[in-house]
Amino acid sequence: MKTEEIAQLQKEHLMPTYAPGIALVEGSGTSVWDAEGKEYLDFVSGIAVTNIGHCHPKMVHAVQDQVETLVHVSNLYYNEKQPVLAKSLAEHSGLPGAKCFFCNSGAEANEGLIKLARLWGSKHGKYEIVTMRQSFHGRTLATLTATGQDKVQIGFGPLPEGFVYANFNDIQSIEDAIGSKTAAVLVEALQGEGGVIPSEPEFLPALRKLCDEKGILLLCDEVQCGMGRTGKWFGFQNYDVVPDAFSLAKGLGNGFPIGAIVAGETLSDIFQPGHHATTFGGTPLACSAAQAVIDVIEEEELLANTMIMGAYFVEGLCEIAMKHKKWIAGVRGLGLLLGLVLDVPAAPLQKKLQEKGMLALATAGNVIRLLPPLTVSQEEIDKALKLIGEACVELHDEMAAQSPNPCQCGMGE
Ligand SMILES: *Cc1c(COP(=O)(O)O)cnc(C)c1O
Repeated sequence: MKTEEIAQLQKEHLMPTYAPGIALVEGSGTSVWDAEGKEYLDFVSGIAVTNIGHCHPKMVHAVQDQVETLVHVSNLYYNEKQPVLAKSLAEHSGLPGAKCFFCNSGAEANEGLIKLARLWGSKHGKYEIVTMRQSFHGRTLATLTATGQDKVQIGFGPLPEGFVYANFNDIQSIEDAIGSKTAAVLVEALQGEGGVIPSEPEFLPALRKLCDEKGILLLCDEVQCGMGRTGKWFGFQNYDVVPDAFSLAKGLGNGFPIGAIVAGETLSDIFQPGHHATTFGGTPLACSAAQAVIDVIEEEELLANTMIMGAYFVEGLCEIAMKHKKWIAGVRGLGLLLGLVLDVPAAPLQKKLQEKGMLALATAGNVIRLLPPLTVSQEEIDKALKLIGEACVELHDEMAAQSPNPCQCGMGE
């Protein structure tokens, strides 16, 4: 089918929750192809999902082998893939005595994390969770309430009780939000959806200290910044901080749906039989996919590649930003979770890049989020930088032509 036909069929039969423009039919490594055969450099990676690239042979083989052996049995029975994967995640996490619970998505992992914190606090009447403004935690009722953004909440009330908001990177604001009913603080080490905003160096250590003083839990949402995306296995490891528990999904299965809660010793035995469950969580098939992802990250030394390529990419992006100081504010992020921060809306630049054969993501209004796979090569970064540079020059010229005052570029927010 051609794009037009697919779009028409979708319009008739799918709820319009998304507004896609192109139809993608094939992927390999950092490349994807649309229904007309046009190739794109994929710097979205399914929003930080396909971290080892599209159709990585190791994952393809792992899934193929497993699908022929055993797909699903129910968690009423042992399946050896689960404890092996859990052991590996626990070891990489650095959380003492860590144990895992597997589920199917980021929202489901965070929902479980919230339940875990509430059950832990229930003996002492503590149930409130402090979350951050501009955060993102998912679209179920509890997780959209945890998400500190009106745009995901409007129209869905009444919202569940027990969520209190504070400002990210503002320890005083969190301290003010903590009360006698607070069970936990939930943060992203780096806010992805909120605009690629990393924790400031002193913020997470200060938050860990504050939670310890108050006797409450520190929970991290690692759904986007986990699994090597920031150059460490998990985002909080950039700050030498150990949370009480964290959630995973996105990059964990490289596109095969799987989420997880990883909990340290305080929380590892709180859920007992009957407290929490899932039909599909941690199937042999899902765990095989995730195990292949971990093996590839280790074997191909992708954490190192993420650091090296991230630094190289930032350097090139900064050069572009310098050339367009009037409307590009700068570059921020960690590893290969990067944001080109504009002083104008990001959508026109995203569109221009797509026309040129590169996928990037406009986020938080004025940020271009750049998420190449962790396998990305220097040649691919060079290609991306060339396309971004060209797109910026064209956009600059268009803005200058439209504006009576070239200094404002005619596109202020
Ligand atoms: C994407 C995301 C989620 C939600 O994950 P889903 O799999 O879409 O439910 C939660 N938290 C963060 C930080 C995310 O980026």
